[in-house]
Amino acid sequence: MVGKVYLVGAGPGDPGLLTIKGKECLEKADVVLYDRLIAPELLNFTPSHAKKIYVGKDSHHHAVRQEEIQQYLVDYAKEGYTVVRLKGGDPFVFGRGAEEAQILTENHIAFEIVPGVTSAIAAPAYAGIPISHRNYSGSFHVITGHECTDSKVSDEEWQALAKMTGTIVILMGLGHLQQITERLIQYGKSSETLCGVVSKGTTSEQKVVTGTLGAIAELCVQQDIVSPATVVIGDIVALSESLSWFEPRSSMNQEQMMSNVLFGGVLK
Ligand code: SAH
Repeated sequence: MVGKVYLVGAGPGDPGLLTIKGKECLEKADVVLYDRLIAPELLNFTPSHAKKIYVGKDSHHHAVRQEEIQQYLVDYAKEGYTVVRLKGGDPFVFGRGAEEAQILTENHIAFEIVPGVTSAIAAPAYAGIPISHRNYSGSFHVITGHECTDSKVSDEEWQALAKMTGTIVILMGLGHLQQITERLIQYGKSSETLCGVVSKGTTSEQKVVTGTLGAIAELCVQQDIVSPATVVIGDIVALSESLSWFEPRSSMNQEQMMSNVLFGGVLK
């Protein structure tokens, strides 16, 4: 009999943000294909016989090719296994989950999607930045910063975004932050617009930098901000000071989180 594939969102980093449904999938998995950004503790939910396959980038930044990942999904399911594809954040938010679901459909393999907590919302939330507030912003727009420099369509989107008053959230944008901010300013967004960058959000290593659109790229360089990072642009960033609640330094370290997963703490 052909097995089934679960495309599961692992959340942004804090293992406590996995959904109950996601945990149930891991508990019945024969095979787990997991990405770089997932909390490693989550793999402890899998049965002892489960095969855990890392398909993220290696230390030389070479990722397992997407086609190869898709082939694994198809092959293991055809062998009758219950397969979990564990992806950072939400599987359908810039996660290539849609492509994986399409391949499964083409191969007549049953699948379920288990949405996850996306970093687009959770990383700002852990920095005290709500992405909407009726007095500040009535919309939010999530865009990938990855293609900012080389896609024509994207360029038109950036022009439109620069004119919007809602909150802008940029994923995969840290590497191009200078170009992105310059472009938004060039297209009419005020260089005084507030901006927040949340690095390694929801984890014990979370770092937050806030500043103006004109200054934020330089501030990130000065403060050694690293990926993964979520960029939030809009007046709403002003709330981060008063609503900041998460203290990464005093939050659980890796070892404590492991013991919670294994011996029953917040996660059980
Ligand atoms: N599917 C994921 C996003 C994948 S794209 C989701 O829903 O969250 C990867 C990008 O997500 C990173 O470049 C970064 O912009 C963002 N990201 C992932 N984990 C993050 C974290 N812990 N803190 C801040 N941003 C994060």
